[in-house]
Amino acid sequence: LDSLKHGLERSREAISEVFYMGGEVDESFWEDLEDTLVMGDMGAELALSVSDDLRELAAKKGLTRASQLRGALADRLAAEFPTPERDPFDDTPSCVLFVGINGAGKTTTCGKLAGRAMGEGKRVLLGGADTFRAAAIEQLEVWGERAGVDVITRERGCDPASVCYDVIEEAERRDSDLVLIDTAGRLHTSADLMQELAKVVNVTRKRAGMPVSVVLVIDATTGQNGLNQAKEFNDALDLDGLIITKLDGTAKGGIALAVSSQLGLPIYRIGVGESIDDLQSFDAHDFCAALVG
Ligand code: GDP
Repeated sequence: LDSLKHGLERSREAISEVFYMGGEVDESFWEDLEDTLVMGDMGAELALSVSDDLRELAAKKGLTRASQLRGALADRLAAEFPTPERDPFDDTPSCVLFVGINGAGKTTTCGKLAGRAMGEGKRVLLGGADTFRAAAIEQLEVWGERAGVDVITRERGCDPASVCYDVIEEAERRDSDLVLIDTAGRLHTSADLMQELAKVVNVTRKRAGMPVSVVLVIDATTGQNGLNQAKEFNDALDLDGLIITKLDGTAKGGIALAVSSQLGLPIYRIGVGESIDDLQSFDAHDFCAALVG
């Protein structure tokens, strides 16, 4: 929780200022609150809807001190996050395909999850389906070694859907509990990428004798651009959920809220650093408490 709180410091400080300035619930308080929420990356529509709901609550309860609304803001924000029906990393056997643009943190997240599942005594297999970049395969192998997990992959240029086919076959032979597959984040064009990933998802779903989840990894520091990316991936691949990385950095945190609430996708985990232990479960109440302070 400390690294998350540290990461969300900027948002929390901005929100704190609104709640302390003057301390009265008046028109300038509402304006400041709206501005701060919009600036925090959660999107104008959601920011306005949240502040409208709080206005209604303040009027109904006759609240006049800004500090009386702080807890209500955290609750209102937390209610925006959908809760997952199933956790693809805990409810095994399970196969997860990680998608997202280059640099989002897919490979790192695969490595962290593999390490944790190994620690829990699960039989884990990593799959390297980013055959577009040789470095991507090498990087996954480094994480595999670190986590003590085997990596199934093929050389650069091979069809990524056939890599997934091999990975699932091997997982069946080994009776694996958890299969984590890293995919490409960039091809010649974005349309090519979406088409390739759609094929990867289809082949894996058809071949796997276990539930297959498609998880989008998003870098929290990309701001509102992250929302556009998420929409594109969701339209093409019908995502199951999200992992938000780099919440330890200078992220504002609002992007997690915007993507999760607008696309109706649960957040399975959050990344709060670069090392193997820097992955946390997502708790909407803790997150919003860290955001609001
Ligand atoms: P990929 O291209 O999507 O596979 O992204 P990588 O896994 O290679 O990650 C890109 C960079 O982001 C690397 O330098 C990682 O160490 C870093 N990174 C990944 N997750 C986190 C995180 O939660 N916090 C921080 N601070 N850095 C992260």
